Amino acid sequence: MDRALSEFEFELRCCRWAERAWPPTESASGNHAIVARQLGTKRRRWDTIVLECDPEALRERAKFGRERLDSDLLHLVRNAPDDWTYYRDCLPEPGYPWRYVREAIHRADDRGILETRKRGNRVQIRRKWPYPDWLNRIVAIENKPDLNASAARALGSQLEYDVAVSLADEVWVATRATGDSVEPALFEDLPVEAGILTLEPDTLAAEVAWYPRTLAVDEPGTRILERPDGGERDGSAARFEYVEPASKAEKRLAIAERAYERGWRSFVETMRPDCRHFELRARDGTQLQPHCAAKEGCQTAAACSSRCADFEPEPPGWRTRGWPIEGGPGKRCQQLLADRRRRRRPGI
Ligand code: SF4
Repeated sequence: MDRALSEFEFELRCCRWAERAWPPTESASGNHAIVARQLGTKRRRWDTIVLECDPEALRERAKFGRERLDSDLLHLVRNAPDDWTYYRDCLPEPGYPWRYVREAIHRADDRGILETRKRGNRVQIRRKWPYPDWLNRIVAIENKPDLNASAARALGSQLEYDVAVSLADEVWVATRATGDSVEPALFEDLPVEAGILTLEPDTLAAEVAWYPRTLAVDEPGTRILERPDGGERDGSAARFEYVEPASKAEKRLAIAERAYERGWRSFVETMRPDCRHFELRARDGTQLQPHCAAKEGCQTAAACSSRCADFEPEPPGWRTRGWPIEGGPGKRCQQLLADRRRRRRPGI
């Protein structure tokens, strides 16, 4: 493939490869991989995330539904007792007002993931199922199809941040295979802890050019807040803060829950599938990628918005059967992608 490839297209190919082939090492890990994109924390968003999950526990997780559990709901389902108990007697001090816990109890009840009853004016709760320990590892991948020196510099500081915080178990850079005997990415100034993967986006053949180190997710991390610019006269110190293991564990689970809900095919949710030019094309017979008939290529989410000069709504005639309940082709595109996401979630 010698045409220029956008980072977005490369990212979708990388997600597809990870879904089919993770892990890239020969050892079969026995984990089930869930792939998501564009997730992370307030300060750092990763391009691709691979969750390595315990297959049995993942089935158990499915009982809680395909939507994510936010931190308030996790607080409930992880601490709810086997027997009916007044909620303030069984839940740990939440660190925020109890009325928010009551609201979360009602939400959990509405979703059918917690049993509740009233005794007098006291709300009692009881768990329906234990919340399983389904997440084994989080792997973060940055996608840079053309890893030249300036892209590597920008990426280098982001990866240093990831290594210092150690929120993910591994960090990788995925770049496009060049066919050179030594991949140029190896000469770039990237942290040694980060793995390098070369991916041929057409064939989805991938090779490990550099193996990553496993990061210490159970130990305190260091969050780099500010670093000196590095000039000759710059004697200032970097500013950083520690991140406690408990806070990291909570963040990891919150990220995993979001990844579980979203997957990587959710790109369509930030695009305009209701535009008459929007299409899904199957690249390798299975992977559906967005395609814009007006722009004659794979459009990015930023381009595919109502600000797009070529945007034209689907003609009502396309929606005759089932419209407006089922919608036109755009709705069917969304449905198709949602179905594929669901298939990757055992037990759903
Ligand atoms: S014309 Fe614009 S809005 Fe329509 S599919 Fe193409 S990029 Fe998206």
